[in-house]
Parts: sequence; C-alpha cells; structure tokens
Amino acid sequence: MASEDTVRADVAKLHGELVKYGLVVWTGGNVSGRVHGTDLFVIKPSGVDYDELSAENMILCDLDGKVVPGSEGSYLSPSSDTAAHAYVYRNMPEVGGVVHTHSTYATAWAARAEPIPCTLTGMADEFGGEIPVGPFAIIGDDSIGRGIVATLTGHRSPAVLMQNHGPFTIGKTPRDAVKAAVMCEDAARTTHIARQGGPLVPIPPKIIDRLFDRYQHVYGQRAPEEGTAN
Ligand SMILES: [Zn+2]
Repeated sequence: MASEDTVRADVAKLHGELVKYGLVVWTGGNVSGRVHGTDLFVIKPSGVDYDELSAENMILCDLDGKVVPGSEGSYLSPSSDTAAHAYVYRNMPEVGGVVHTHSTYATAWAARAEPIPCTLTGMADEFGGEIPVGPFAIIGDDSIGRGIVATLTGHRSPAVLMQNHGPFTIGKTPRDAVKAAVMCEDAARTTHIARQGGPLVPIPPKIIDRLFDRYQHVYGQRAPEEGTAN
C-alpha cells in the first residue's frame, strides 16, 4: 500500500487539482493523506505558495496533529487546519484522505448555514442526498474536527459545509477527497444558479437511493482502481 514517500508525492501533486479547479486562493486550502498501516498522515505546510509545494516539504504528523520530529519538511509548520484533519483520522479509521477549501459557491451555502438539496442526479450519485451543514466551530482546537466527524458519521455525503466557514471532504484516498471537493463546489454552483431561475425540484428519496446504490456499487465494480471517471 501507499508508503510515506508515495503519500508525500501524491498529496503534494493533488494540491495542483485545487488550483486547477479554482477551489482556492493564495495559500488557502489543504489536502492530507494517511500513511497506510501507520498512525501518521501527510499534510501541506502552512503559508507556502502552491507553486512551491513538493513531496519534500509536505509535513508528516501523528494522529494528534503533532509534527514527527526529524522528519522531512519538519522545519516548516503544518497547515493551520492540521488539528481538524488529525481528529478525522483518529475517529474515522476508514478515511484515507481529507480536503479543506473555501471554494466560492460551497462556502456561500456555508455562510447561510444551508444544506445543498439533492436536485441533480449527479449529486445523488456522488453524495447520496443533500450536502449537510456542520456546526459553527472556531479554529485552534478539536471543535472543527468534532463537527466534521459528528456530521459525516453515518452520512452518505463525503462533504460537509462547516457553518460560516467552508467545505471539508473525506475519502478512502486523498484523490477521492479531492474529487469530493471538486464535485461539492460543482453541485453548490449549479444548484445556486438553478434557484435563481425558479424553485428547485427535489428528487424523491427512493430514486436518490437507487442512483446512489448503482453509482457506488454497480458502476464502481467496472473500474475499482480507476475511481469513477466518466
Ligand atoms: Zn478554512
């Protein structure tokens, strides 16, 4: 499975996807990935330009969010959201990747503390229903992490809109979490635009269940290693 070196390279490269899809400005946003079979994860350093990110300056942390002394890149401070990522890994062992952005449309829904309703088949596929809102939480302790875990545990959605803040997404791999961040922003944008033209038409819950089940199980088996490229 993915070694520390692989995760470092993977996480560094995936930050480029946040830029490519317009999900971040300046040095905001972060991706992390758990090192398989260990209680360690790799995350972006704080305040470093996206152009400067590399496998070498990713930061290795333990599941309390503490930098592993002497590890590569440990002269830098980790992302200010490290405690939230660590809390998710500590409490959701199935999660292998976490992403946070302030992407415009998703964050606009977060500013209203309004869940994004499921009115698109693509959203039913990816999120299995609405994208929920998590509690208001201040950065600096475990409260963001607690809010993410409390909202996403037992929920189909891999994305949560933290109130007055922005989206956090999870996945089995860092790439899955990045994909969820891209899809979350896409759903937020389309749904926002749709509502300008008139009332949204909900999809019946039974249909959402069918769409989600098909996409997650039937579709996934055709290309288990390739994710869900379509
Ligand atoms: Zn933030």
